[in-house]
Amino acid sequence: MELKARAKINLSLDVVGRRPDGYHLVRMVMQTVDVCDTLVLQKKDSAGISFACDAPGVPADSRNLAWKAAELLMQEFGVRDGVSILLKKRIPSAAGLAGGSADAACVLKGVNELFGFGLTEEELCRRAVKLGADVPYCIMGGTALSEGIGEVLTKLPPVPDCRILLAKPEDSVPTGQVYHDLDLLESYPHPDVNGQIRAIREGDLDGIVRTMGNVLELVTIPHHPAVTELIQIMERNGAEGARMSGSGPTVFGIFRREEDARIAYEELENSGLAKDVFLTRPYPVTDTMQEVYA
Ligand code: ATP
Repeated sequence: MELKARAKINLSLDVVGRRPDGYHLVRMVMQTVDVCDTLVLQKKDSAGISFACDAPGVPADSRNLAWKAAELLMQEFGVRDGVSILLKKRIPSAAGLAGGSADAACVLKGVNELFGFGLTEEELCRRAVKLGADVPYCIMGGTALSEGIGEVLTKLPPVPDCRILLAKPEDSVPTGQVYHDLDLLESYPHPDVNGQIRAIREGDLDGIVRTMGNVLELVTIPHHPAVTELIQIMERNGAEGARMSGSGPTVFGIFRREEDARIAYEELENSGLAKDVFLTRPYPVTDTMQEVYA
């Protein structure tokens, strides 16, 4: 079984409180993009999980979220056979793109199907939140509002046709540290998440871009000034708007025109500020978009 695990960006990201157990309460508009890892899952006769990953620096053992996802379901259902997992990484790691969460969501769905557990998407989401705040969303995919600690999901209509550029600086960012640093701030301005949801429902790309905001920029940017420079390069080269995704440091830019996105891509590649640059688009592609991209 070969599956694709797609990255996400945060069209907006707000932190609205903290639960007594320390988990942060969020309001985030999530969007899947067509940059993906590939997972190959196969049943095997011997018990346990065998795991291989082609990316140096990403753990290829029980610390990997994809491993943890398989373990969670196989233990619950007392599976005697085992599973082998091959993970081919393309999504940059610790980059604000939820690569690990996407892999975990993909394995939950894959193992559910491979062993015929018959769990619904909702039942998978209930288990997914134990692995990480973004994993339930990654099961759902598309455009969605994520609230609570990531377990309260509301599906939104797909965003209008656009091109999305991703630029990831050399550094990686540990998500936990960013949230910890945010707690040290007394107050901060909040993005207009409700306005963005309205704009999405109206299919208004200008409105979506105008309301983009990410409170985590406040703590990530001082340590990673390349984020601001990447935002500026995108905006100078025709992006409708550009922001940091998740806890960073990846920057995404929204473009109406493919030509502008291609020129910005070249600029970013030549800037020396980005280790990885991707020209992509929202996923899934809507019917009208398919006509455009055909
Ligand atoms: P988010 O946007 O959800 O905060 P992220 O993109 O910042 O996530 P990930 O790529 O998910 O971060 O990786 C975070 C850490 O998790 C990495 O440092 C890595 O060692 C570990 N990790 C565990 N499993 C995976 C995986 N399947 N892919 C990538 N990293 C993984």
